[in-house]
Amino acid sequence: MAEVKTHTFDAVIVGAGGAGLMAALYASKSVNVAVISKLYPTRSHTGAALGGIGAALGNNGEDHWEWHAYDTVKGSDYLADQDAVDILCKEAVETIVELEHMGLPFDRTSEGRISQRRFGGHTNKETGKPVPRACHAADRTGHMILQTLYQQCIKNKVNFFDEYHVVDLIRVGDTVRGLVAVELSTGDFHVFHSKAVHFATGGWGRCWEVTSNAHSLTGDGAAICLRRGIPLEDMEFFQFHPTGIFKLGILITEGVRGEGGILINGQGERFMERYAPTIKDLASRDVVSRAIFLEVQAGRGINGKNYVHLDVRPETVNRYFEEAGDSRRITKQFIEEKLGETVDLGRTYLGIDPVHEPIPIQPTAHYAMGGIPTDVDGRVILDAQNTVLPGLYAAGEVACVSVHGANRLGTNSLVDLVVFGRRSGVHMARYCQETELLPLPEGPADEVMAEFDRIRNGSGGVRAHELRQRMQTTMMANVSVFRTEESMTKALAELRQLRTEYDRNIQIDDKSKNFNSDLLEAWEVGCLLELSEVTTISAVARKESRGGHAREDYPRRKDDEWMKHSLCFLEGDAYRLGYKPVVPGRYQPKERVY
Ligand SMILES: Cc1cc2nc3c(=O)[nH]c(=O)nc-3n(C[C@H](O)[C@H](O)[C@H](O)COP(=O)(O)OP(=O)(O)OC[C@H]3O[C@@H](n4cnc5c(N)ncnc54)[C@H](O)[C@@H]3O)c2cc1C
Repeated sequence: MAEVKTHTFDAVIVGAGGAGLMAALYASKSVNVAVISKLYPTRSHTGAALGGIGAALGNNGEDHWEWHAYDTVKGSDYLADQDAVDILCKEAVETIVELEHMGLPFDRTSEGRISQRRFGGHTNKETGKPVPRACHAADRTGHMILQTLYQQCIKNKVNFFDEYHVVDLIRVGDTVRGLVAVELSTGDFHVFHSKAVHFATGGWGRCWEVTSNAHSLTGDGAAICLRRGIPLEDMEFFQFHPTGIFKLGILITEGVRGEGGILINGQGERFMERYAPTIKDLASRDVVSRAIFLEVQAGRGINGKNYVHLDVRPETVNRYFEEAGDSRRITKQFIEEKLGETVDLGRTYLGIDPVHEPIPIQPTAHYAMGGIPTDVDGRVILDAQNTVLPGLYAAGEVACVSVHGANRLGTNSLVDLVVFGRRSGVHMARYCQETELLPLPEGPADEVMAEFDRIRNGSGGVRAHELRQRMQTTMMANVSVFRTEESMTKALAELRQLRTEYDRNIQIDDKSKNFNSDLLEAWEVGCLLELSEVTTISAVARKESRGGHAREDYPRRKDDEWMKHSLCFLEGDAYRLGYKPVVPGRYQPKERVY
């Protein structure tokens, strides 16, 4: 075996998005921390987040963290754990103020406070009317969060390993000893020996053909944990955001509807009036995505095709404001200022100007509600009894606390990153201070190096990109906004076939060591295939509809039987499902009406 370089730190964090950087910032206050990232940190997907970060500051109208909690639980279709939701919504307020003190340039109200806008599913609990709760820096909020946190981490002397690709977790019994990573520029393997490991690797939207997610979102952290005996929670729940650019999937932020934009079908109707009479276009994402799907299915797409229009032209928006007795009015200049990135996206990718023309949109695979199960301090748990695996942490999109349950509200991911990134960083630092470094096992990188040799030397003639394309097509057709037993059984058969081809016949063309992205991408496809399978297996088993999981063959939510989280374990080559109860709280399950 080739020589492997070893590095030693108290704590190693995988991922330099909002969750990883927040954890690093807090852990680095008292222990020696490394952040490993396959991308240059400021290229992490958090930087693509547009619309806003939710917190009940009440700067643009009355608001309370309990209302935020209510909306989050209702939006989750009552599957979120309410102890975690309370923490999320309470700590959101102080965390936003903290980000502001770090220098984050939020938009301002005329009195100089952080300005807040409307977003889907955020309401006044008394009236059901929309509440402005999304704090934002124009429509580049994630970019500003990422830059601010990165600067703070540099100031705190966090050690960064950029363009290092983590490929394995070193677990010995119920202890963790570190990680194995590949350095992109040299192809060398490195072992990171540590007391604690933290996964903040983001989502896996690349399982689907039409997605808002960057190419790098291949679920590596979740797949690595699964292979090392950690179950994945609530994988059947994957959010389709209603407004992706037609065919491309690129996200048009919900902030567009927050500022007044409306959805129009092929007959010129504002169809959301029929599906969510009170809150209309600002209903929660699962509701709006299904409505678009049903409009298209009924032949009411634009020109009979499978898309509808998102209209943010001032003349249209102001007409609807007037009709509704809403005093707001928008102008071309307002849109350019508040939604500049969106206007640019329209011009660049569609060649249209959203201030003059409506935007063609369709639902796009967006966000993983499920993931690595954790407690409210980011500690990874191993089973339905909530047994903790000491020294292993996760936060951000890869983790499942669970604050999003069956469907996440807009703006609640960015809050999740900073609130649970911070809590996990604090807890991990304390853990490292109280714990000794355990020795590395013999040949900690051998197993994963052998797998890389297999991929590099394979000669079966099947290219990774072909497998990825077939997987994405089948997931899009069979495990998307609506699902049935029949469609998912079809998907499972195809996924198993793809898995066999991956195991037996994968072949790559680039055999070199330096910058071998072909090799790493082939390894990533292995992760995606596994997560697609776990998603489908968890979804076939759940015989009800809830949040982002809509079954045509079981259209109702069934609280008696299914008010529980799923846990999918990988045992040998087989998957096993288990379940654990939802943590109840002040809000009882009700029919969701918007
Ligand atoms: C277009 C878009 C717009 C969005 N807008 C909003 C919004 O307005 N409000 C909101 O609340 N949410 C929004 N979201 C969701 C939110 O941005 C994401 O859920 C969140 O940013 C995820 O952050 P993260 O820290 O978990 O991971 P990411 O920011 O995705 O970062 C993942 C990190 O892990 C690293 N990594 C991954 N695998 C490996 C590996 N094997 N080895 C080493 N490093 C690895 C990557 O290099 C990266 O640094 C949006 C998402 C998208 C895609």
